[in-house]
Amino acid sequence: MKNVKNYKCTLCFKEYESNKDIYTCPTCGEKGILDVEYDYKKIKETVSIQYFKINYDYSIWRYKEFLPVIDNHYLEETLKVGWTPLYKSNNLSKVLRLKNLYIKDEGLNPTASLKDRASVIAVIKAIENNNKIISCSSTGNAASSLAGNAARLGLKTVIFVPKRAPRGKIAQLLIYGAKVIVVNGDYKQTFELSKQAIDYYGWYNRNAAINPHMVEGKKTVAMEIAEQMNWIVPDWVVVSVGDGCTIAGVYKGFYDLLNVGLIDKIPKLLGVQAKGCSPFYNSFIENKPIKETMENTIADSIAVGIPRNPIKGASAVSKSLGSWVSVSDELILKAMRTLGTYEGIFGEPAGVTSLAGLEKAIKDGIINENDKVCIIVTGNGLKDIESAFKSVDKAITINPDLKELKKYIK
Ligand SMILES: *Cc1c(COP(=O)(O)O)cnc(C)c1O
Ligand SMILES: [Zn+2]
Repeated sequence: MKNVKNYKCTLCFKEYESNKDIYTCPTCGEKGILDVEYDYKKIKETVSIQYFKINYDYSIWRYKEFLPVIDNHYLEETLKVGWTPLYKSNNLSKVLRLKNLYIKDEGLNPTASLKDRASVIAVIKAIENNNKIISCSSTGNAASSLAGNAARLGLKTVIFVPKRAPRGKIAQLLIYGAKVIVVNGDYKQTFELSKQAIDYYGWYNRNAAINPHMVEGKKTVAMEIAEQMNWIVPDWVVVSVGDGCTIAGVYKGFYDLLNVGLIDKIPKLLGVQAKGCSPFYNSFIENKPIKETMENTIADSIAVGIPRNPIKGASAVSKSLGSWVSVSDELILKAMRTLGTYEGIFGEPAGVTSLAGLEKAIKDGIINENDKVCIIVTGNGLKDIESAFKSVDKAITINPDLKELKKYIK
């Protein structure tokens, strides 16, 4: 916490010294989402390119000078979150005719999604606040990641998920010992119920938008991309968007690095939404405030009809001078196959939505062949194999007979 300056409301810009007992701005209520502000001068006294050269902590805590946590022994006891691989594309770049394409595989986090970056912070903050029980509502990954990270540090979790959450994610929750409440309703109803329950029981609240620390955890993905590219950032970073916390985090990570002089620009951000659920995209195209939409897409992790972090999400894209696209479920399923086939990376539908969006942006002339691009694959495909099967042809089944095999292999 030593480098945190204050908490600032994103609506009324009022500043608060600490957020010990508040999650959102007391004046603005639930919509007054706070942003954590840092003392960059102070961070610069410690952090430099050299600092990272001799830093052998290859986890999220590598960036602890930029995180709102107290540096104590608990940081060494968490699951190993972060420092996921950044691949330079071997084959996909040729297919897409891009000179420079990078893929950040967030599916290799301990519970197999980018959400671990936020959840591990939630767990540390709960310990700092002396809370024994943490709760959240989630379309799946925030929940399973919270349950896993909490289990590791001996905390209990109460998790609310909508009925449509893929079975792999629910299996994770149960294995991690969470108290799982499957809500007979959509994400909106699930979120509302969790909010009421958290208020009533006083559990630590991991709901991403409401808790400003979650975006801070997520920003480390951008810091890693920058460091793994030797502090020369790409022209574009492509991110799938539901609530808007992830893309807000990506912006914040680059923003922090720019402020301490480790990088010299913020990449343009391409926000990608599914056609069947695209409130951010619609608002961008129509130049109107964000309106509630249906939650109609196979990409369950970004099926968010009412984004909980509309201001931070939308301004991340606009401040970066980026853009928005939306893609059909068909394109998302195709991207699942493409990424697996050309690069050996298996992403869940929302995980590969970034790739589908990149293809769309190339087609629309938003991104061109000389741009250096990084796509973030936010979650692992093994979480949702039902969708995977929808994206591929059936495997052949034959008798144990070479003659029969020869009919299939030419
Ligand atoms: C949560 C999630 C996203 C989107 O993050 P938001 O903060 O909701 O915008 C994208 N992909 C996956 C796999 C996720 O779990
Ligand atoms: Zn406010």
